[in-house]
Amino acid sequence: MIPSMAHDHAGRLARAGEAAGAAGLDALIVAPGPDLAYLAGYDPPPLERLTALVVRPDGAPVLLVPELERPLAAASPAGSLLAIVPWRDGADPYAALGRLLGPHAARGRFGAADRMWASHLMALQARLPEAAFTAASRVLGALRAVKDAAEVELLRSAAAAADRTFDAIRAERFAGRAEREVAAALSAHLVAFGHETVSFVIVGSGPNGASPHHEAGDRVIEPGDAVVLDFGGRLSGYASDITRTVAVGEPAPQVREVHAVVRAAQRAAFEAVRPGVAAGDVDRAARRVIEEAGYGRQFFHRTGHGIGLEEHEPPWIVQGNGEPLRPGMAFSIEPGVYLEGRFGVRIEDIVVVTDDGVRSLNEAPRDLTVVS
Ligand code: ZN
Ligand code: ZN
Ligand code: ZN
Repeated sequence: MIPSMAHDHAGRLARAGEAAGAAGLDALIVAPGPDLAYLAGYDPPPLERLTALVVRPDGAPVLLVPELERPLAAASPAGSLLAIVPWRDGADPYAALGRLLGPHAARGRFGAADRMWASHLMALQARLPEAAFTAASRVLGALRAVKDAAEVELLRSAAAAADRTFDAIRAERFAGRAEREVAAALSAHLVAFGHETVSFVIVGSGPNGASPHHEAGDRVIEPGDAVVLDFGGRLSGYASDITRTVAVGEPAPQVREVHAVVRAAQRAAFEAVRPGVAAGDVDRAARRVIEEAGYGRQFFHRTGHGIGLEEHEPPWIVQGNGEPLRPGMAFSIEPGVYLEGRFGVRIEDIVVVTDDGVRSLNEAPRDLTVVS
């Protein structure tokens, strides 16, 4: 559960309603998930019973909940922010939702939360066959992408806990341990340093490092390996996400060379960030360095992703994204080079756009770290 009392949910609800209106939508329909947590401070598990927040440009927000979850909703920040309408087992919640969507619901245009279950959306569509639906992220993505000061502070705390996790793991022995054991140690450190939960732990040793999303497996780490460590968790609801690549013992010359290229690419992207710059230009800055070094084909993913209540959210730092960066946007910068069958290198930090530039939320050392 997110301690969200400090967040300005009333302001977020008002801005979401305005943005929905500006986008020509009659309402946003927000099911359990990060959008609901963001807007109303209510974060129940998504279930087969329908829970839906309705945000309209021309009316007060309303939260439809199963009767048995009414006390849970009432005790959350949503309880003091908006009207809660319960429905009972045996009743038709989609008919109730249709009524909350307003008098013109039958031919309305609605934004449905990206994380709304298909089963719920399809049941609603069957009730309103002539209504039009679009992804609510078209409206909410831009709102959530710009963090306020309290959110930046939570992301910074999460990043600091991830930095400490890296400091702890690099002091440990790698050679002779299975990837899975290192992953278990990383998970324990993430929690020990303040995360409530662990979201993911990638330990890609030797050739496994060339698979960017490799899950930690049974491979035993050997002297001479490069090891990609990419991990993160949630702290007060906000995500951390950091990658460092370490060398077990003296690194091979090509590991040093590729690491230096990725490091330079990451720095170039970092230096490209400031308000008004297109997100795609940050990707371009990193990619140019790697292409000029001759590894362009081995950098086959985008440079970064926004981060907040989710590990991956807008803005997307990807080729072709002309969206201008704005102060308060937080995202990863994580170029990588992957040599199939041999090794991979990736370096990732979370940064936030400031009024006149950029600030890194991660501070763990970025140079090639030699571990034992
Ligand atoms: Zn990733
Ligand atoms: Zn990552
Ligand atoms: Zn990432």
